Amino acid sequence: MYPPSVAVAPAWRPDTITVQAGRPARTPGAPMNSPIALSSTYVHDAEKAYGRDGNDGWGAFEAAMGALDGGRAVAFASGLAAATAIADLVPTGGIIVLPTAAYYGVTNIFSRMQAHGRLTVRTVDPGDADAVLAAAEGADMVWIESIANPTMVVADIPVIAAGARERGAFTVVDATFATPLRQRPLALGADIVLHSATKLIAGHSDLLLGVAVTSSNAHADFLAAHRHDHGAIPGGLETFLALRGLRTLDVRLERAEANAAELARRLEAHPRVTRVNYPGLPGDPQHEKALRVLPGGCGNMLSFEIDATPEQTDEILSGLALITHATSLGGVETLIERRTRWAAEEAAGVPMTLCRLSAGIENIEDLWTDVNESIHRVIR
Ligand SMILES: *Cc1c(COP(=O)(O)O)cnc(C)c1O
Repeated sequence: MYPPSVAVAPAWRPDTITVQAGRPARTPGAPMNSPIALSSTYVHDAEKAYGRDGNDGWGAFEAAMGALDGGRAVAFASGLAAATAIADLVPTGGIIVLPTAAYYGVTNIFSRMQAHGRLTVRTVDPGDADAVLAAAEGADMVWIESIANPTMVVADIPVIAAGARERGAFTVVDATFATPLRQRPLALGADIVLHSATKLIAGHSDLLLGVAVTSSNAHADFLAAHRHDHGAIPGGLETFLALRGLRTLDVRLERAEANAAELARRLEAHPRVTRVNYPGLPGDPQHEKALRVLPGGCGNMLSFEIDATPEQTDEILSGLALITHATSLGGVETLIERRTRWAAEEAAGVPMTLCRLSAGIENIEDLWTDVNESIHRVIR
């Protein structure tokens, strides 16, 4: 067994931590990487007895994520498995404040809990901190996304987290779009940060994995016990691959973000594009807030509307040769989709022609040629 024990120096910057944290101790003959540990049971009289108790691979991934976000990390089978465990922190009869447009799976979890009489949901515009805090009055939990899906609305985490705490509520931030390299919500005052590691952290569209990180030992203990008792454990192969992905997160994100920013600029100037949402654009309504809460950059996600019908928009997306028409995000390859294809799942008010693009790390000129030619093929 090789417990992760390369010490993370307090002075290390996040891009060094992604490369170095969670490695086995440097004893003679030790491997560079924590090996994939595939075992459902363990020899008696140890801390681990059964596969639900723990796994060295989870430990390595969690050590790295905890060091990055500045708390204790608990990995789960998927982002939604982590969200389900976090949702159970709301007491029975409690109140949760949720963004009007949040990741649909998260909205589903809380809607179902509300339908069962388990809790009450209040929805607000996450970009309006005053409205969030008004809704937080008497609430137990405030849930926000760093950059909201798919509207790209930026949440003012320091204001929301401090105000929620004054009102007796704790704050959860789904930072999947931002990653710990663009935003550290715990340092901004949030209580729990959630990542769908399926996306940018693993980065290669080849697994599902989630992780919650918290500065509260009580919350971390609750989440670990929830995982153990409800069984939403991550796989040993998944945590290995996600940690391997994390090693290159900084360089992948830098390139993908540069591609997103350039595509946003070019789309903004395109005659057949009516709107671009990317907080990194100087003219974006979210830009000033983004400079404060996402100082390192606004990530690889953008959305835009084309001057076309929903059917023409689908035709444009299906006509792309390089970019894949598919859901999900954060892989090395560029993906695009029209969100309201998922009419039942996407929040009301999301425009019918809104396209969400997850920029990958391909050459920018090839990406631009693909988008531009496909638009002009359908609407001249
Ligand atoms: C994908 C995603 C989730 C859910 O994560 P899974 O790993 O797919 O379960 C939650 N929040 C956001 C913002 C996501 O993009």
